[in-house]
This record gives sequence, C-alpha cells and structure tokens, in this order.
Amino acid sequence: DDDHGGGGGCGHCHDHSHEPSAPTDWAFWADLGPTVICGLCLAIGWGLDLTSASAATRTTADLIYGFGAIVAAIPTGWHTLQSLARGRLDVDLLMLIGALGATLVGHVDEATVLLFLFTLSHTLEAFALGRTRSALQALLALRPDEAVVLRNGEPVKTPLDEVAVGETIVVRPGERVPLDGLIRKGEADFDESALTGEALPRFKSPGDAVLAGGINLSGALEIEVVRPAGQSTLARMVELVETARSGRAPTQRLLDRFLLTYVIAILIGATATAVVPAALGLATWYEMFYRSMTLLVVASPCALAISTPATILSAIAAAAQQGVLFKGGAAVEALGAADLLAFDKTGTLTEGKLTVGAIYPQPGVSSSELLKYVAAAEASSEHPLAQAIVREAAGQGIAVPPADSFHTSAGLGVEAQVAGRTVLVGGRRFLESRDVSFAGNAATEENEPASGATSANGPGAPGNVVGKNVWGAIDGRLAGRVVLHDRIRPESAAAVRRLTELGVKNVVMLTGDEAHAAQAIAQQAGVTEFKAELLPDAKATYLAEQTAAGRRTVMVGDGVNDAPALAAANVGVAMGAAGTDIAIEAADVVLMSSRLDRLVDAVALSRAARSILWQNLGFAISVVIVLVSLTLLGRLSMSWGVVGHEGSTVLVVLNGLRLLARNGWTTAPRAPA
Ligand code: ADP
Ligand code: MG
Repeated sequence: DDDHGGGGGCGHCHDHSHEPSAPTDWAFWADLGPTVICGLCLAIGWGLDLTSASAATRTTADLIYGFGAIVAAIPTGWHTLQSLARGRLDVDLLMLIGALGATLVGHVDEATVLLFLFTLSHTLEAFALGRTRSALQALLALRPDEAVVLRNGEPVKTPLDEVAVGETIVVRPGERVPLDGLIRKGEADFDESALTGEALPRFKSPGDAVLAGGINLSGALEIEVVRPAGQSTLARMVELVETARSGRAPTQRLLDRFLLTYVIAILIGATATAVVPAALGLATWYEMFYRSMTLLVVASPCALAISTPATILSAIAAAAQQGVLFKGGAAVEALGAADLLAFDKTGTLTEGKLTVGAIYPQPGVSSSELLKYVAAAEASSEHPLAQAIVREAAGQGIAVPPADSFHTSAGLGVEAQVAGRTVLVGGRRFLESRDVSFAGNAATEENEPASGATSANGPGAPGNVVGKNVWGAIDGRLAGRVVLHDRIRPESAAAVRRLTELGVKNVVMLTGDEAHAAQAIAQQAGVTEFKAELLPDAKATYLAEQTAAGRRTVMVGDGVNDAPALAAANVGVAMGAAGTDIAIEAADVVLMSSRLDRLVDAVALSRAARSILWQNLGFAISVVIVLVSLTLLGRLSMSWGVVGHEGSTVLVVLNGLRLLARNGWTTAPRAPA
C-alpha cells in the first residue's frame, strides 16, 4: 500500500490501492450498506422531528440519528485508524472530528447528514473507479482457462499453466486463442480488436503469430505455443496497466506533499478558530466551536485528493480498451504536454513491409548472382531491408551460401565473407566510405525513378509506394543495387495534421536514410521537418538535446532498432508492439496496433486528461476557498458545508470519468465467446 505513502491521501481513494487480483467491488458494497442504513436513520429522525416537538420525541430522534451516524462512521473510522497506525494522517480524520464535534455541541442531526453524504460520495466514487478497473479485468476474461493440446496426436484438454512452450494446441473456428503462438497448420481470419484496437479482422496463415485473447473467426488451426500463459501479450498488457494504475502521476506526487502540510494547517486553523475569538471575548465558545468543526469539514481536501487518480485512471482504462497502454500516470501527463514529436521513418511513417521491387546488376554480373551475394551477406541481419532481400532470394529459389565474419555497421550496412569474397551491402555513402567507386555506374539511380520515393499514386497521395536503394559491392567493386518497396501509411498525412492541430508544435522525422530519400518520404507523409543520415545513436542524441533545451519530447518508433531514442525522449511510444517484448520494455506508451490514428487518439486523450486535471484542481480549490470564507464569516451551516464539500468531490470524479466515454474510445472489450 505504499503508493499512498505521501501522507494526507484521502480515504476516497482506498479502493484502487489493492492488489491487481482483489475483487472489484468490495469497497463499493462496504460503503453502500452503511450509507443506506444511515440514510434510513436520517429519514426516520426527520420524520419524528416533524411529527412532534416533545422532549421525548427529540431524544428518540437523536438516538436514531446517533445510531445512523455510528453505522456510517464505522468503515471510515476503520480506514482512518489503519492509516494512523501506519503513521499517516488521513483526510477522513477531519471529517470524523467534524462529526464528533457537531455531536458534542448538540447537532447530532448535522453530524448524521455529514456522515451520510460522506459515505454516499465514497460509494459513488468506489462505483465510478470500479468501472475503470472492470474495464481492464474484462481483458483477462478474454482468455480461455484451458487449451486443447495435441499429445501423441491426441487432443487433450489441459489447464493453461501446464502447456509447455513448443507444444501444439488446436483452436477451432469461433474459439478464442488461449496462448500466444505461431500458426503451424491452417489459416483463418482473426478478430484481435480487444488487444490491438483494430476493428478489422486479420487473415493469418502458417508462420503468422497469433495472440492469446484473439478470436479465430473461420478456420481450424494448429498453433505452436511460443510463450507460457503468464507471459502472453494479454497477461503482460493487464499487468502493465495494473502497475500503471498504482503508480502515481507527477501531479499526484506534488499534491501528496502539499496535502500533508495542508491537513496539519487545517487542524491548527480549526483549533485557533475554536479558541482565539472566544478567549478574547469576541464570540461565544459554542458558536466558535461549531464554526471550527464546519471549517474542518469544508476545508478538507477530499476533492483535491481524488481528482488526479480519478482522471488518470480513466485515461489509462480508456486507452487500454483501444490497445494503447500507458505505463503510468507520468506517461499520460507527459504525452499530453508534448511539444516535439519525432517519428522514426521505416515501420512508423511507412508500413515497413518491404519487398524487393527490382534488381539492377552492373554489367558482367547476373541478377541472380547479385541477389545471391547480397542475400548471403544480409542473412544474419535483423534489419527489415535485409529480411526483405533474404525473403526474395528464397522466393526465387536461389541457393544462398553461408556467410563468414558477418559484421553490422548499425544504420549504415553490413559486411561479410561469402564464398571467399568480401561483400558490402548498404547505402551509397557506406560503400563510398569503403572506397567502392560509383564512377561508370550503369545502374545509376537516374535510370529508374525508384530513388527515394516513387509516387505511384501521384505526389502526396496516400499509400504511395516508396523505393529504397540498397547497394552491393563484391571484392571492392560495385555489383549493383536492389530496389526495395515500402508504402507510406495511408493515414500518416492526416495523422500529422491532426497532431499539429492538437497543439504539438513540431513534428519531425528522424532517419538513417539519405537526405534526398528522407525528404521525399517526409513530404509524402506530411512531415515538414526531418533529420536524415542519423546513426541510431544520433537519434537519441538529438532527442536528448531537445529535451535538455526544455522541449517536451516524444519519440515514436517500432521499438525494434530505436530503443535508445525511445529512452532518450520524455515519452517513448512503441508502435505495432503486439507480441514484441523489446518494444514493450523500451517504451512508456505502447500501441498494440500499428495505426497512426491510434497515436493521435492517445495524444488527444492525454491532452484532455491534462486539461481535466487542471479544471478539477481549479474547481476543487475554488470551492474550498468559497466554503472556508463563508464558514469564517459564520454564514454557512455545517449541513450546507457538507453538501458543498461532498458535491464538489463527486463532481471532480465524474469530470475525470468523462474520459472513459470519449468518442472513439467507447468500445469495451467484448465478453468472452
Ligand atoms: P531508418 O531510419 O529508416 O530506420 P536505419 O537507421 O535502420 O534506417 O538505417 C539507415 C540506412 O542504413 C538505411 O536506409 C540503409 O541505407 C542502411 N542500412 C542499415 N542497415 C542495413 C542493412 N542491413 N542492409 C542494407 N542497408 C542497411
Ligand atoms: Mg527503423
């Protein structure tokens, strides 16, 4: 429970500090019962007061009020005692002292009103915050409890924990996938919307990855398990979000420090109010004591204490339902405050699904020979360019010899020994830096409009194919080039425009690619600013410099080879992360899908969250100022003070919960099939 260690935390936030597995609603029911009983007592007491003014009736009414007050005070009193035992000053303590004080000066009815509204607002908050929790737990319910495992060719129903990595499971049409795996047999459409937020079904065939929690819409499948149940993408998502919920946002940490001092100040102020004027003979003891108790109640910072968690939790839950995971409240606040947003190029602004478009060997080299050497050199590289080349060679049925002494120059290219010959593959600058001559180059870029970017659909049209030259040299002599095709994400220009409209001042593309290629792609993706020929470290350095210069920076990448840059920015956003562990580790915000519009939604959501944070703080502080002033002037009864105080507390919670109902973020995960 040390996430409430800041002291001064409000009892209103008890319910979200429990372990992830705690049942959702107990806090809600524990508050609801006493609230109802106290409300009934209040009604009966008032009824009696109305029917007769006799002393006996008054006494009966007061006894009933008192009973209601005690019942309502039990849950709060219990929490407060627990806090005190842990050496923490709970805001609820102020309310209890207020109620006790009111009773002492004969206002037992007001004490009951106080405790009734207090527990009622607890109940409403527990209910509201419980909704942010159940939205997340619905995610885990997506996963079946058992898997059908093929053992010795027989299907065996097995609890998930007992399925080993490498075993084969069977998933029939209409069933949910129980574990992360790779399709070995069969093909099917998959609905993974609850995980990735992508509404459209995806077609998957052998070799494709499937995620626990996805629905197999059409085919009978055999799937090889790649992760134990506890480490599935779904389990990690839920874990991440639960951790994020208990972490404290920066605003919250600031408030916690302030609230402790504040609660002590209120206690001193209330004592002074009760004692000083009366001691000086300016007012009666009775009058000032009552005022002092009202002051305790109206000044207690319940609305302040609850407003940040209510807002941040709603934002985190709303985002998770759409496959956007914030690793904590800090990430929500920082993304909402961003003024510089940097995109990686390949796989982020472009789809990153590279294919070989053309092969241009130098005279005297055959196309298949060029591909053979280049693919051999690239075979051990993880780079998407390399993988596309290797796939193409395999597709053409070329026998690729093994390579020796493979060496990668990150962001430049690769070098390897293939069948006794030295092969260099990479950008033009990389080969030139290794003294490869481009003079008399028959395969010049001008021969074919694929350099940098081709506009298959006309300049600026969405979904344009872009070409990328990869050059190969054998034994120091240029051997030719391979043109790889990628596609600008169709939504990128609109996404960049919306980001700017949302108030992100600079949108920048960072790439290791050459400047002219970078420019063409940036233009088509709608990005006006770009930095080219950056080595992976230089991307991180650029972001670190910008951050040091006081900009609030966001780096968006696929998390595969830009982890240092993700870490250097204030906020790292990894895109298309479903199933990739590194990306989930490196980033502060994880987009399960690769859709740039989800990024825009996430930025819009965090900006809204930030503005709601400030609205709530402003409102809560104003209400306290007004109520305290009225109380000091003797213009506020305790009952009305309580109404104002609890009303404002409930309002800030509801204001925070608005985030859960935002447009485009309203689809809850579907119930288990
Ligand atoms: P990006 O910014 O597009 O992600 P990288 O930093 O990964 O690019 O790489 C920058 C450039 O270095 C690529 O555009 C390519 O020209 C070259 N390069 C890097 N790795 C390789 C490789 N394995 N094979 C061929 N070229 C490579
Ligand atoms: Mg990259």
